[in-house]
Amino acid sequence: MAGPPRLAGGRAPRAAGAPARSFGRRRPLVGVLALQGDVGEHLGMLDDAGAEAIPVTTRGDLDRVDGLVLPGGESITIGRLLARFELLEVVRQRVAHGLATFGTCAGAILLAREATLDDGTPAEQPLLGALDVRARRNAFGRQVASFEASLDVAGLDGQPLAGGPLEAAFIRAPWFEAPGAGVESLATVATEAGDRIVVVRQGHILASAFHPELGGDPRLHAAFVELARRG
Ligand code: GLN
Repeated sequence: MAGPPRLAGGRAPRAAGAPARSFGRRRPLVGVLALQGDVGEHLGMLDDAGAEAIPVTTRGDLDRVDGLVLPGGESITIGRLLARFELLEVVRQRVAHGLATFGTCAGAILLAREATLDDGTPAEQPLLGALDVRARRNAFGRQVASFEASLDVAGLDGQPLAGGPLEAAFIRAPWFEAPGAGVESLATVATEAGDRIVVVRQGHILASAFHPELGGDPRLHAAFVELARRG
C-alpha cells in the first residue's frame, strides 16, 4: 500500500499541531521517556521488536511519536521531573487522546488513576490518571522486594503469548488493584494472599509491574509496538 509522500528524513509530513500518525509506515516511531530509568534497554528492545525508537525529553520529541514507553525507576521522581520539564500535562493530554503508552513498574504507577503505599495508604504524588487501576507501590514487601517469576502472559488477542512463559524481573514492584471495567488483566502472580494482577491493558495503554526490558525477551515490547502501529 502506498504511504503518504516522504520528506528527506524519511518522516511523513503532517500539519502543524496534528498528532503524529504511522499510516503505512512499517516501523512505528516509539519514544522512551528519558528522565530516569532503563532508557537504553527499552530502546534496544523496541528496536528488536520492530520500532524506530527514540529517547523523549522534550515536547517536540513527544509530538513526533506514535507510542511512548514510561520506564521504571522511582515514580515520585519521574512524576516530579515530568512536572519540572513541563511535560506532565502534555503527556497526560496525549495519553488521554489515544497515544499508545506502555508503563513499566514506576511508569505503570504514573499511569494509574491512584497510587498507594505498600500498606494501602494513599501516596501523594503526581500521576497521569489514564489507567483505571489503583497501583500499590512496593506491594510484594521487603523480604521479596526483588524476584524473578516465570509468568503466563496474554497478548493483545487475550490468548497466551506464543513461546511459553515469560521470565519477569520484579524490582520493588507494584501490583494493580480495583481495575475498572475497561481494564483487562493479562497476567497475575500467585501470592500467599491470592493472585495479584501484574500486567494490564486498557485499550491503547499497556502496563506491567515488572521490568520487561531486562532479560532479553521482547514479546511484551512486540505487543506494544503492534499497539503503536495500530495508532
Ligand atoms: N518502587 C518504585 C516506585 O514506587 C518502582 C520501582 C521500579 O520501577 N522498579 O516508584
